[in-house]
Amino acid sequence: MLKNTLLYTGKAKSVYTTDNPDLLILVFRDDASAFNGEKIAQLDRKGKVNNLFNAFIMEKLAEAGIETHFEKLINPSEVLVKRLDMIPVECVIRNYAAGSLCRRLGVEEGKVLTPPTFELFFKDDALGDPMVNESQSIALGWATAEQLEQMKVLTYKVNQVLTDLFEKGGMLLVDFKLEFGVFHDRIVLGDEFSPDGCRLWDKETKKKLDKDRFRQGLGDVVEAYEEVATRLGINLDSI
Ligand code: ADP
Ligand code: UDP
Repeated sequence: MLKNTLLYTGKAKSVYTTDNPDLLILVFRDDASAFNGEKIAQLDRKGKVNNLFNAFIMEKLAEAGIETHFEKLINPSEVLVKRLDMIPVECVIRNYAAGSLCRRLGVEEGKVLTPPTFELFFKDDALGDPMVNESQSIALGWATAEQLEQMKVLTYKVNQVLTDLFEKGGMLLVDFKLEFGVFHDRIVLGDEFSPDGCRLWDKETKKKLDKDRFRQGLGDVVEAYEEVATRLGINLDSI
């Protein structure tokens, strides 16, 4: 499958059409950004590590019965996916307090959230991805009530599967963001799951192994992503 035209250049990936109107190619780049594009950098190997990481996670989720856009890895930087009509609402689940929850509500980082919280954010860079609720998302035409319900159920299911997976690698899944889209009337998981879009802490030492290393200038960002991959048994020999 060959790349046709460039459809979209995002902050971390480029999206290409293919000869098949139902399929796209995502190219994972080494660009890193945080704080709505205020902090940017090139992190050697990040694109390839995230692409291989995402492929592994998407396959695990598919095995658990969650439909994803993942079709096949093309090479270490590129993946073939189903072309979704993306819903511009990001789904976030938190098992422990961190990031914007701490900033907004003055909660101490690491507080256990029981039950895990579910939040929605409007995917809009110009507005800084503001938090939104279900009725706003429906009234503004971003998703139907049924779609939002399915997205919520699927996000909790992903949380269950991945909490167990990371636990086996000695890690806590603190929080994560998912994006869904519509493919032939079905809600399907799109975009990526990688340490760029979640928080992972070592279970014992609480060492941060995710994009907070970049946000907070802690260094060894890609090295931490590789450590997570290795702990999950992901083979990075091809990169
Ligand atoms: P951003 O747009 O946030 O800067 P990326 O650099 O990751 O993010 O760009 C990837 C873009 O591709 C995102 O806008 C994402 O919503 C979109 N996307 C991801 N998966 C699919 C898919 N299967 N079909 C269509 N669009 C997708
Ligand atoms: N997240 C993301 N993309 C976004 C916003 C958030 O991948 O545009 C992820 C983020 O990495 C974290 C979770 O969603 O794992 C919750 O993020 P939070 O609301 O705490 O925001 P942040 O601290 O990044 O401002």
